[in-house]
Amino acid sequence: MIRSSMHNHTDLCDGNNTPDEMVVAAIDAGFTDFGFSGHSMNEKYFNEWGLHDEDAYIKEINRIKEKYKKQINIYVGIENDYFGRTKNSDKLDFLITSVHGFVNSDDTKYYSVDNGAEELIAGIDSVYSGNAMSMIKAYYENLCKAALLDKPDIIGHLDLPIKHNEGNFIFNENSDEYLKIAKDAIRYLSAFSVFEVNTGGMYRGYREFPYPKEELLYYILKESGKVTISADAHSINGIDYKLDEMEDLVKDIGFKEFYIYENGEFKRHRL
Ligand SMILES: [Zn+2]
Ligand SMILES: [Zn+2]
Repeated sequence: MIRSSMHNHTDLCDGNNTPDEMVVAAIDAGFTDFGFSGHSMNEKYFNEWGLHDEDAYIKEINRIKEKYKKQINIYVGIENDYFGRTKNSDKLDFLITSVHGFVNSDDTKYYSVDNGAEELIAGIDSVYSGNAMSMIKAYYENLCKAALLDKPDIIGHLDLPIKHNEGNFIFNENSDEYLKIAKDAIRYLSAFSVFEVNTGGMYRGYREFPYPKEELLYYILKESGKVTISADAHSINGIDYKLDEMEDLVKDIGFKEFYIYENGEFKRHRL
């Protein structure tokens, strides 16, 4: 049983529960290790989902860490977005690097890739003249750039732009063109970070498969990339959503091992 998950949000960013409530739920679910990964902030664009006071967040998670230390290992982290960078890397236990959107050329408007098909399509039309593959290219380039800066513990939801693309509604995610761009990023990122198998999109009913999609998981394996498993929980309900199923899934893909964060570091688990 997987009883560690490092990608979790609270009501200090866009989650529904307090840090205390999340930890109590994690203890009830039998977790031994639990990471908080509040969203980094861009005050121009991320007000609805970023951490409004990162210092207060770090202080609060450290308080929770101390309060529950006999029952569970708690870690304070940030999900660091390319467009809103944390200034507190030195105060954190771990870092997740993610990209959630893109901005227009004069940096006056931000478009999410994961906040609905309508916003994504509007962004592709306005910033990339309707060319979805240009958006995809920029997305993966920005993810690689951010990861190079962060040297993160975890790469968050690698292929997030597919969230609202079920049935290839916006672009053909099975095309050679798309897969080449994603695979180039995988080759680059495999060298220095761990990919998460993220069940957040499944829990919220958008996808039937985790991020990254199956074909990309096969490619991570081919490139000897490392994987970990997390729920990207935004409430106490999704806290351990399908974590054990994901262990079976990566085993079926052919992985011989995966990584679980325990006692302050990633440990290798044989499959
Ligand atoms: Zn995210
Ligand atoms: Zn997240």
